[in-house]
Amino acid sequence: MIFYNAQKKRTLFIVMTEQKLVIYNTLTRQKEDFKPINPPFVGLYVCGPTVYSDVHLGNARTFVSFDMIYRYLVHLGYKVRYVRNITDAGHLEGDRDEGDDKFAKKAKLEQLEPMEIVQKYTNGFHEVMREMNTLPPSIEPTATGHICEQIEMVKKILAKGYAYEINGTVYFDVEKYNKEFPYGQLTNRKLEELLEGTRELSGQDEKKGRLDFALWIKAKPETLMQWPSPWGPGFPGWHIECSAMSSKYLGDTFDIHGGGMDLQATHHTNEIAQSQACNHTAPVNYWMHTNMLTVNGVRMSKTAGNGFLPGELFTGNHPLLDKGYAPMAVRFFMMQTHYGSTLDFSNEALQASEKGYAKLMNAMKTVDSLKASATSTSNIKELQQNCYDAMNDDFNAPIVVANLFEGVRIINSVNDGKETITADDLALLKTTMQDFVYDVLGLKSENSNTANDKALQGVMEMILSIRKDAKQNKDFATSDKIRKELEAIGIQIKDSKEKTEWSF
Ligand code: AMP
Ligand code: ZN
Repeated sequence: MIFYNAQKKRTLFIVMTEQKLVIYNTLTRQKEDFKPINPPFVGLYVCGPTVYSDVHLGNARTFVSFDMIYRYLVHLGYKVRYVRNITDAGHLEGDRDEGDDKFAKKAKLEQLEPMEIVQKYTNGFHEVMREMNTLPPSIEPTATGHICEQIEMVKKILAKGYAYEINGTVYFDVEKYNKEFPYGQLTNRKLEELLEGTRELSGQDEKKGRLDFALWIKAKPETLMQWPSPWGPGFPGWHIECSAMSSKYLGDTFDIHGGGMDLQATHHTNEIAQSQACNHTAPVNYWMHTNMLTVNGVRMSKTAGNGFLPGELFTGNHPLLDKGYAPMAVRFFMMQTHYGSTLDFSNEALQASEKGYAKLMNAMKTVDSLKASATSTSNIKELQQNCYDAMNDDFNAPIVVANLFEGVRIINSVNDGKETITADDLALLKTTMQDFVYDVLGLKSENSNTANDKALQGVMEMILSIRKDAKQNKDFATSDKIRKELEAIGIQIKDSKEKTEWSF
């Protein structure tokens, strides 16, 4: 589909509408054709990190998955406004308005200002995102930067009768809301079932209903982060920030909202209720949820204390790690499982991914030196469409990876003279590999001029030159020993008439 600006007489965007994208929608529990509200524009909102501590690998999995989703939408030609927030206020330890404020607690512990905590961990998050080669969002709004918008939204919800104020705190009235709208719709639960799973109110509770949640929370005099409001000094509840910021930047109803599936039952359920109550329209057409990264089957989380920091994974500096892994090997590891399935961390799985990633990157180099022939032995157009079909089927990255390895097989076979490829097919093969490896899966070559890479290259050249001399002197014992010992440490060497190549 071509979008044309008549006044400026030029083509604005071309969306590949021949690629029929289907998305699994948590709300309807089925795969649906993706139909943006206002094509070629797409609004995408993803719940960002709560910046009171380092992001762990599980958080990174969610953000890397949505980066792949964002990249594919852009690749198809959509003009995506990607909003990913920073939660820097209002997140209490318990998701249901209980416990200490996470930022204030950490600020006291580290003897820093709460906003120093926010800045420190926002910087750390950005560094991890850069290392994992994620694209920056179009807008990265913060909760503290949108207090006015949140207060306005709470005022509207109060005015519409879905909230009540008690002693400076404003609560959302879930039972009242549920009379008109199905509160548990996102997780397919009835109110009665949800009530069963919630503790009875005690005499100390202010709120009227067990499922009611705070939109605005009254500050104590010693509360470090507080703002004036019509209900006195306080701070926003955790859920209201995403409703206020998504509607501000993407409209009352927008296309895709994402986050980890641990957010479905409370945070996203409450977001839907707040937005619906305020704007009388469903806020989101497609809800997407990433599944959890687990360690020995247990969800990785900050509170469970089983988290690897990405930095520990890159250096190998953690008791559960055999060695360090390059960020792109870790990203490749993530791409080998569908975003909707759990991904269990293990050294073995990462080692296998490291090898697979190296093989892929070697082929990306080899493809540049392939020679074209008069005929092709492979169907490259089909390979390309297979990659699109996989992505069109709810962003099925592992199937794309399997197809890319068919590409790797073809590249290596042509290089070895076992298969042939025409010039047109070679160009298409290069484009397909580059589009999906770099643009869509977001991988890049790791041998990017670091001092270590340069040193390794130099050492390998020296070793291969010693081996060449040994062979010329008919000292085959030495040349075989070099080959075998390199293999033992994971380096393969391949001799051809003209040269000797090495790879991991
Ligand atoms: P938080 O900083 O805790 O607000 O989490 C940021 C994002 O990471 C949210 O979308 C969470 O759902 C997601 N997340 C948290 N733990 C995991 C995990 N173990 N695996 C995948 N995503 C996670
Ligand atoms: Zn959110």
